[in-house]
Amino acid sequence: MWMYVDGKWVKDDQPVVFAQSKGVQYGLGIFEGIRAYWLEDREQLSIFRLEDHITRWVEGAKILNMEFRESMDELVSIIQELLWKNNVRQNIYIRPVALKSVQTIRPLISEVGQQIIIYLTDPVYTIKEGLDVQISTWTRPSPQSFPLHIKLTSHYLTLGLAATEAVQNGYDDALLLNDQGMISEGSGANVFFVKGNELYTPPISDGILAGITRATVMDLALARGLIVKEKSVPRSYVYQFDEAFYTGTAIEIKPIFSIDQRKLGTGHIGPVTKLLKEDYLRLVYRK
Ligand code: PMP
Repeated sequence: MWMYVDGKWVKDDQPVVFAQSKGVQYGLGIFEGIRAYWLEDREQLSIFRLEDHITRWVEGAKILNMEFRESMDELVSIIQELLWKNNVRQNIYIRPVALKSVQTIRPLISEVGQQIIIYLTDPVYTIKEGLDVQISTWTRPSPQSFPLHIKLTSHYLTLGLAATEAVQNGYDDALLLNDQGMISEGSGANVFFVKGNELYTPPISDGILAGITRATVMDLALARGLIVKEKSVPRSYVYQFDEAFYTGTAIEIKPIFSIDQRKLGTGHIGPVTKLLKEDYLRLVYRK
């Protein structure tokens, strides 16, 4: 497939990243995960909330002192062209990455220069209907030592350690506590809990990614007359919820069947999760 690399179209089996770059050496990079849906009935691709993803990427890149030479509109056009060039006629995941490219030895963020790469990949996160998760022994760093609301490359070390531990222990994923011992999120998704007609989700200030699916689901829940509370969730409470689910661009809405081997509700998809999942799929498939 074609990918976009700093103004050029390159085949995605070509090496393009310099080993000396700080994106590689120190993990000074920021990326996005965007999903395009193939609308069978209209024979057309629909990119879900593209502008919001690009905004999170470009705005977040400011923390790494990156200024993209491509404007927002150009980035939109590049992504559209990427899909067109690759003749995509199926659901696909779009992965833009910006890596600090300077080759000096210190991890100075003030130095200007980055490499922009945008490529396509398979959007399937898991084929499971619901997940059995574990509270991780790895905790999230404090927001005072790490910007957690955007998709910084190096952030995925903690998430990777937690996910690996969970999988090695026979679970599907890990829920991480934050530095205050409150629930934060999964290794690649935000989390919601349900009690009756109330939804609870950790606030951004608890050190979570400002998820775009999370925001969408909050709107969908409000439209259904559900009550949404952004509130810190202590670990000891999670086992008592009726339902829980993950939200994310790749994972969409995925029920959590159990936490630490305690079944939530019936251990199957609950009515609120089912309703919101159906609403979400209708939205992304423009039905
Ligand atoms: N948290 C983490 C750690 C993630 O990697 C993702 C996936 N991007 C999410 C949450 C969900 O974010 P979004 O809904 O914007 O995809």
